[in-house]
Amino acid sequence: MATPGRITVVGACAVDLTVVETLRRSGFDGHLTVIGEEPHLPYDRPPLSKEVLSGAWPEERVQLRPAAAVEALGLDLRLGVRATGLDRTHRRVLLSDGSRAGYDELVIATGTRPRRLPGPRASPACTC
Ligand SMILES: Cc1cc2nc3c(=O)[nH]c(=O)nc-3n(C[C@H](O)[C@H](O)[C@H](O)COP(=O)(O)OP(=O)(O)OC[C@H]3O[C@@H](n4cnc5c(N)ncnc54)[C@H](O)[C@@H]3O)c2cc1C
Repeated sequence: MATPGRITVVGACAVDLTVVETLRRSGFDGHLTVIGEEPHLPYDRPPLSKEVLSGAWPEERVQLRPAAAVEALGLDLRLGVRATGLDRTHRRVLLSDGSRAGYDELVIATGTRPRRLPGPRASPACTC
């Protein structure tokens, strides 16, 4: 099987970071694009509602890797842009800023969103 020249990852969370780190560690030296709708480098979410909220940790501590370590991965990092569509014919992801990101292989790891049940709306209480 031919090695892909371009791999694009949609999502910029812990999973996506693991994907690109593993690819580089395994010797992939092709074009690696990461698209994240948030403007932040990958960060750990659970401490936000615990250690950060309680003031035990400074906000910066949730960042999963220092900026220099992310830079060393040699990514085409596109933060603050949302993937809005997929053109499978031309193998490219359409982005909210009007640009596109081509790919040979595509990873979509954009997480999940709760599905709300029909019926009277109870006020959600976050217990996580
Ligand atoms: C405040 C808080 C506290 C939490 N506490 C806990 C806990 O105690 N225990 C626990 O198990 N889990 C907890 N979680 C959930 C956990 O951190 C993960 O977020 C969750 O498990 C989902 O992980 P994921 O990797 O699937 O996706 P996510 O972490 O949601 O990551 C998805 C990524 O995709 C990006 N993305 C989504 N759509 C697009 C798009 N169209 N274009 C580009 N990028 C996109 C997002 O910006 C993000 O970078 C908490 C989450 C939050 C916010």
